Amino acid sequence: MSEHSATSLVDLLAGDAPSVSFEFFPPKDDEGETVLWDTITELEALDPAFVSITYGAGGTSQDRTVRVTSRVAAETSLRPVAHLTLVRQTREELAEVLRQYADAGVRDVLALRGDPPGGPRASWEPHPGGLDHAVELVELARETGEFTVGVAAFPEGHPDAGSLDDDAKVLAAKAEAGAAFAITQLFFRASDYFDLVERVRSLGADLPIVPGIMPILNFRQVARMAELSGAALPPEVLEVVEPIRDDPAAVRAAGIDLATRLCRDLMAGGAPGLHFITLNRSKATREIWERLRAEGVL
Ligand code: FAD
Repeated sequence: MSEHSATSLVDLLAGDAPSVSFEFFPPKDDEGETVLWDTITELEALDPAFVSITYGAGGTSQDRTVRVTSRVAAETSLRPVAHLTLVRQTREELAEVLRQYADAGVRDVLALRGDPPGGPRASWEPHPGGLDHAVELVELARETGEFTVGVAAFPEGHPDAGSLDDDAKVLAAKAEAGAAFAITQLFFRASDYFDLVERVRSLGADLPIVPGIMPILNFRQVARMAELSGAALPPEVLEVVEPIRDDPAAVRAAGIDLATRLCRDLMAGGAPGLHFITLNRSKATREIWERLRAEGVL
């Protein structure tokens, strides 16, 4: 069981020491599972405040999330934050997953809607007998009395939000419903993060908002993920990586530099920590961590 488990996640994030944390996804096969566990072992040495495991669409992927998250809780010193999306499930099915997490000793969940069944940019159709918005899942998870609940935040606004102010109101409503922390979508400009924090604070919500960091290691992959998530690759980033897009080693080096700079700016501006989207690999995250450590940022 995690050495951090006696302290609430919110207290950890509010502490003086900047936190690092890592996101993993549930692997599809045995080979992927071996890679993930090697990565977890390597990143455990960096003493993260927590690690989070994403929740996939569909039964087998969801079972794998529960299994990997439960194993992290049982077999490592890490504190797992279990993602849970409400898409394609009834309220009873969601309550059952929450029960499984609680039984496995998981104390922190990230309550999400999930992307529409038709894909990230399709229109949203709630499941009959299910929930409509993430705020309802925050309420359901809080009702169990078992969890500290986190939610998603969007520095550039959720793609379906009417405006950045509407988007901030959704986050403030989740905080009102009991969400105690938020993790952001990937983004590339520190000012987008700080503007979000300001919008949310002006609505009276003081929950810690942890920035999600994804270094550009492969131009096409990040461009695609950015497009799907509604995050833009800003001109100052494109200017650096577009001319070298067909040189993988140069893109990787530039991506690490850009991400290190973003992390430096975020920490200098008072972000509570850094949440690295690892894609189940440790090398790039470790490189950035080591640089920030050497500079005294972490
Ligand atoms: P919601 O808060 O429900 O918001 C969805 C849309 O509805 C927004 O446009 C919002 O403005 C609007 N809205 C919300 N509440 C209301 C309301 N009361 N009335 C009217 N409109 C409203 N996806 C996965 O499938 N698995 C994962 O593990 C996963 N992890 C993620 C982790 C992070 C940190 C982030 C940022 C995203 C993650 N996602 C994951 C993607 C996420 O599920 C999608 O971005 C999804 O489209 C939105 O989820 P949400 O929880 O913000 O939904």
